[in-house]
Amino acid sequence: MRKTRGVAPAANGATARRNYRQMLLDKRHEALANLGIKFDTVAKLGRVAEEDQAQISHDEFVNLRLNKLDYDKLKLVNEALDRLETGEYGVCERCEEPIPPKRLEAVPWAKYCVHCQEELARDYQEEEEPALLARTW
Ligand SMILES: [Zn+2]
Repeated sequence: MRKTRGVAPAANGATARRNYRQMLLDKRHEALANLGIKFDTVAKLGRVAEEDQAQISHDEFVNLRLNKLDYDKLKLVNEALDRLETGEYGVCERCEEPIPPKRLEAVPWAKYCVHCQEELARDYQEEEEPALLARTW
């Protein structure tokens, strides 16, 4: 049961922090579970016949790419948990303005406000992995 009293909770309020922490822990669990499954898949690849190698290499490559996405997410989530501990959570790292609670609820590991995120995404567009940045998280 949530009592918002019609006012958005501040990002650094004790209750809000507990909520964000819980969301982040859930995400961390999710990313770790994904990594666990994929590590298992990669480990099994060691026992396959030689003739399957070409296909395996492709699958393995895909798995490693997916692992990287989970790793990146895990890293962002861990960083956000650190910021919760140090009290820096919910503040844009670029312009130092508070990140709106709505954004934190959608992207609890957000480091930047929407404005800065968009500017950074624009800067990154000429780099190799725009798909990664296009993801909502
Ligand atoms: Zn900003």
